Amino acid sequence: MSIDQHAFPVTKTSDSKIKYFDWDHLDFGKNFSDHMFLMEYSDGVWGQGEIVPFANLTMHPAMSAIHYGQSIFEGLKANRTADGRVSIFRPDMNAKRFNESAERMCMPSIPEELFVEAIRQLVSLDDEWVTSREGHSLYIRPFMYATDELVGIRPSRTYKFLIITTPVGQYYSEPVNVKIEKSYTRAASGGVGRAKAAGNYAASMYPALQAQKEGYHQLVWTDAAEHKYIEESGTMNIVFQIGDKLITPDENHDTILRGITKRSVLQVAEMWGVEVEERMVTIKEIVEAARNGSLKDAFGAGTAATIAPIAMIGYEDEKFMLPPVEERMLSNKIKKYLGDLKTGRIEDAFGWNLIV
Ligand SMILES: *Cc1c(COP(=O)(O)O)cnc(C)c1O
Repeated sequence: MSIDQHAFPVTKTSDSKIKYFDWDHLDFGKNFSDHMFLMEYSDGVWGQGEIVPFANLTMHPAMSAIHYGQSIFEGLKANRTADGRVSIFRPDMNAKRFNESAERMCMPSIPEELFVEAIRQLVSLDDEWVTSREGHSLYIRPFMYATDELVGIRPSRTYKFLIITTPVGQYYSEPVNVKIEKSYTRAASGGVGRAKAAGNYAASMYPALQAQKEGYHQLVWTDAAEHKYIEESGTMNIVFQIGDKLITPDENHDTILRGITKRSVLQVAEMWGVEVEERMVTIKEIVEAARNGSLKDAFGAGTAATIAPIAMIGYEDEKFMLPPVEERMLSNKIKKYLGDLKTGRIEDAFGWNLIV
């Protein structure tokens, strides 16, 4: 399939909601653009994908995704560039990861080119929903779920793939307080932690809620076997700066989601000659670094927040305060660089922007 021959059929809405949209009060993920992409899988093949007005879907009460959880998703963003164009950040990476999630969950893959092209055409049609307001973007949510009408556990034979988009502002308005989690587990080796599978997020809510009751925003997950190694923070990857070095858990474990934001952060840092260590990171070394003052920075990395500075790390009965955000030269510089790259204010040296 050649992408320039591939224009998806479009049914346009007769009543755009954009005129009712309040750009001054946008709650993350609560409002949706006018259209969505929809494609269905049956008899071993994907049908014709199409762009249709955003609308509810009907479902059979025995729809298997609801009962047995074959459901995966992705998240990426489109931004308005300084010269008024629309760019999408690294959608090819999301296409690849989506198929990796699909494989783990016994779901059909989607040709990467089709995945990216569906996003591009949807965003192009709804491009008025990509605002140039500072810090705002259009969050893109591709997802797939099992639609067999069956109470019975086996891989579904039918699926729906959709893409919806939602205009978003800043995710966290302040630096976050995180708690290093010693009892609950996000993912165990051999499990599905590397997949962006819906159930992973359901499983993480109860532990996160307990931490929130203690005044934290998020958890830092540790390994399931010993609770000795740091894995991720909430639904973000985690990066530490000790001295001048960036240190982050490596991705050779199937318990850590391979984040595109973290990868981008590390690529930028390496381009600048910053030393980066991807390896197993112990709680012990982070606590020691916090105690002796060499822990200069810690932040979450993910599409929703890009870089979310961590203000405080709680571990057992102790709370470690990190330096003020203004002093975090390196992560501030990386955040600015990525923001400028996505909005076309600097040259896209890596070729990460897909211009719509
Ligand atoms: C999506 C996600 C991330 C961040 O990935 P990005 O590609 O940077 O958005 C990190 N951890 C988990 C568990 C995630 O679901």
